[in-house]
Amino acid sequence: MERTFAIIKPDAFAAGHAGSILTRIYQEGFRVVGIKKLFLSKIEAEGFYAVHRERPFFGELTDFMSSGPCLVMVLEAENGIKKWRELMGATNPAEAASGTLRREFGSSVGENATHGSDAPETAAFEIGYFFSGLELL
Ligand code: ATP
Ligand code: MG
Repeated sequence: MERTFAIIKPDAFAAGHAGSILTRIYQEGFRVVGIKKLFLSKIEAEGFYAVHRERPFFGELTDFMSSGPCLVMVLEAENGIKKWRELMGATNPAEAASGTLRREFGSSVGENATHGSDAPETAAFEIGYFFSGLELL
């Protein structure tokens, strides 16, 4: 079993899609190992996305991620990292396959409803950024 880190981003949370997204998560066979609602500060969002610090959209991205509450989660499944990225779909909702979460719930490349770790090392950093061992059951 492999763990990945996921976020229901502020756009999807504010639009009331958290319930539908969680239903999909359970339907697809993930186990929810940890979950909590957070309202990230700008500094917390910048720390989380530090790898993107030099990208032109860093300011816009961290403003958006600190614009409202989100749900942070640790999900577990066979091949969990790849499986969750497949369920999310492409970064740009307009290019995401039909049936994917970003296609259904995202509205732009910035406001794209969900986040998922892209590799085992990233997942380890991202899980540790938000969760202590005691919160992962
Ligand atoms: P994530 O890391 O959120 O799962 P991803 O791996 O598909 O998404 P990245 O390239 O890692 O995409 O970009 C991280 C996030 O930055 C994207 O999810 C998106 O919200 C935002 N982003 C990416 N490209 C742009 C862009 N050109 N303009 C605005 N925001 C962008
Ligand atoms: Mg990424």
